[in-house]
Order: sequence, then structure tokens, then C-alpha cells
Amino acid sequence: MYDVLVKNGKIVTADAVTEGNIAIKEGRIAAVLTKGEEPEATNVIDAAGKYVFPGAIDTHAHLNDPGFEWREDYEHGTAAAALGGYTTVIDMPLQNDPCMTDAKAFDFKENKVSPNAYVDYCFWGGLTSYNFGDLKDLDEKGCVSFKSFIGPVSPDYESLNYGQAMEAMDMIKEFDGRAGFHCEDYAIIKNQEKRMKEAGRNDWKAFLESRPVVAEIVATDAIIEIAKATGCKAHICHVSHPAVAKKIKAAQDEGYDITAETCTHYLTFSNEDVIEKGPLYKCAPILQPKEAVEEMWEYVKAGVFSGIASDHSPCSYDEKFNEILGNKIETVFDVWGGCSGIQSGFQAAFSEGVVKRGVCPTVLANAMSVLPAKAFGIYGKKGDIKPGFDADLLIVDPNKEWEITEESLLYVNKISAFVGLKGKGLPVMTLVRGNVIAKDGKVIAKKGVGELVKKLK
Ligand SMILES: [Zn+2]
Repeated sequence: MYDVLVKNGKIVTADAVTEGNIAIKEGRIAAVLTKGEEPEATNVIDAAGKYVFPGAIDTHAHLNDPGFEWREDYEHGTAAAALGGYTTVIDMPLQNDPCMTDAKAFDFKENKVSPNAYVDYCFWGGLTSYNFGDLKDLDEKGCVSFKSFIGPVSPDYESLNYGQAMEAMDMIKEFDGRAGFHCEDYAIIKNQEKRMKEAGRNDWKAFLESRPVVAEIVATDAIIEIAKATGCKAHICHVSHPAVAKKIKAAQDEGYDITAETCTHYLTFSNEDVIEKGPLYKCAPILQPKEAVEEMWEYVKAGVFSGIASDHSPCSYDEKFNEILGNKIETVFDVWGGCSGIQSGFQAAFSEGVVKRGVCPTVLANAMSVLPAKAFGIYGKKGDIKPGFDADLLIVDPNKEWEITEESLLYVNKISAFVGLKGKGLPVMTLVRGNVIAKDGKVIAKKGVGELVKKLK
């Protein structure tokens, strides 16, 4: 007797789409059965006509909890993730108070967020100029990767120069960890911004010109070379442009363990959205030209990306339109940079990829589940539809049409670049470890059902 049987669905793995049944016991996939094999189960879910994906993994989200809950918190952020289909969220260490840079902060955060999570979650560890001595502890605690920036972000989260990145990667390699980087060369960006301001420019095109793709290429190249030199595993965050993806693919083809993610907004929107609609479409790296968006999909299909992430970077309405922490927004350069997309990530990727561009569903299973789980050391528990894996499943109705509205968003701040987007193909049920968390557009589980997932040793 099984606990749950998901029957008659089109089961999507990285290799194939096959009709069949999935039997679940004690939260794990017990058997993947061929069509017609229907053992008894307490709860039978009929997925006829629908796809059954492995739950998606969001490799990059800022849930801002603890410390900045007025931007987002675990209760709202993970409920939105559940509805959207991310069954595991890998949460960032910054925009936290305290930043997650040592074992004490790890415990503090885990105690604070665990009663409120609807989906499972992993922690990125902090990697700043001042916590090299804490990296091993954070790895032992279960951090799945370490996040750093090339170029300053905020006073309490100091970024690394290339020399420090090399030193950190020498250390991280020792415990077989992975170092992740926001790759935009700060010297180029700051100087471009200065040039724009000196020319009296304050328009959205000026913002785009202040962050040219060469800045992303230069920083990515540097991290790739440092990864090669140190032998440390690296992850390039939120790749926006095919010219960057090309560099990463070349390193992967040479056999280096350099993974990368892109985000749904880079596969959905273009720089024209920034110029026409402004603040909500401001993010870093920037949204790119339409031709680049098309070419990005080719790299998704080629398996270059271990993650189509949300880079959910929530903020208040004021921070996009009026003021940030008491500082009045006077130019496009002052506007909060970031898109809120953790609820819309899967449906937009499905609609833009599978429906609009004829991408095989297996590509999404690979890019959003299998490869991220492998990159972040949780494959075997998460990321696939195979016996022994956690029963994290996403049932998708390929024919359901949708339009994203503000009211439908579960975020603390119901603002997003995705509002107004229309598409087809929607998650209609989300299971985490065999529990139905969301169904027909509603979260039905109790908060706290989500659990911390540590890097598998
Ligand atoms: Zn981010």
C-alpha cells in the first residue's frame, strides 16, 4: 500500500516524456510504473492530460528573511514558490540581518525561517572579504555553495577583488565546495555610469548603456580563469547574454566544473521593456536585446545552464518609484534593481520555451531540476523522478491559459515585471516530499512543512 499514486501523467525527465504512474511512500518516490500498473494507494491523483515534472529548483532567490521581512519573508516567498512550482529554493545570504557569513548566523536564520517555509530550502553561504575563516564551518553546516560579488554591493557585504576570489577558491576547493559569483566588472560599470551622468543622461537607455555586456564578459572570463587555475568548482550567477554563455560553454567543453544559471526574465523580457516600462524591469545584469533572448534559449537547450532561477529580488513599491531607505530616487541609477519572479518562474519558462518556441519539456526538467540538483550537491535526494528521490513533483496543465495579475501574487510586495504577462501552461499541483502543497492556484498546506536541505556529503 502506497501513500500516494500520481497516475496517467506524462512523466517528464531529462531524457524522455513517458506516460506512467508514480508511487510514493513516506515522502519518497517508491516506484515509477508503466501505464496500467496501478497499485493501491491512500491518495490517488489523476494527472491525465498533464505533464508531471520533477519539482523545479530555484538556484537563486533573495527571501530577505531574517532582517528585511518588509521586502519579503519565508511565509510569503515560499508560498509563492510553491504555487509557481519551485519545490526547493536556494536562498541567498545577503539582504539578511545578520548576513549569513558564519555558523552562528546559519543557526539563527534556520531557527527563524523553518516554522514558516512551505517548500524545502537550501542556504547559499556568504563569501565576503571578512569571513574566509568561516567558510569550512558553513560547509559543514550544509551550505550548498558560496556567494560573492566582483565589485561592491553594500557596506555590510563586502565583495572580493580577483586576488581575494583566488584565495577564497583555494580554500573552498579544499572541502570540494562551489564558489558562485555575480559577474559584472565593477570598474567598467562605475565608469560608464559616471560618463552617463557627466553627459546629463537620466533615461533608461542610459542605464542600459551603463552596464554593457562587456562588463559581464570580463568578470565571467576572470572567474573562469581563476577556477581553472585553482581547480575550484565555480558557478556563474544570472547569466543574461549568449556571449557570456558561450564563454561558459567553452570552459565546460574543456572539462571544467563550471556551472551557471540564467533567470526567467532573461528568457522572457528584453531591453525594450526597460526602455518602455522602466523601474520594474531594472535588474542587474540588464535585460538584453531580443536576438540575444532567442540565442539564450539555444544555450538552455544545449544544457549549459544548471538552473533557470528567479533571482527573486523583492522590494517595496517606494524602492522602485520613490525612495530607498530614506534616500530619494532622483535618477534611473538610484532605482532598486531586481525583479520579483519566484511565483512566475516556471510558468513563464514553460510558456516561453515549450509553448512559444517548441522546446522539449525534457529541456526544462534538465535545466530546472536535474542539473541544479547536481551543481548544488543535492542530487540523489532532489532533482529527479527516480526511486529513492524525494517526491517533489509539479503537475502542469499544458493547455491552461493565464495572465499574471498583481492580486494573484503572494509576495509581501505585490509588484513584479511579470504582471501583465500572458501565456499558456500552468502548474496546477505542487507536491513536496509527497505532500500536496498547492492545488489549483491555492496553497493548501500548513506553513512549516518545508525543510532545510543540506549539501549531501
Ligand atoms: Zn541575486
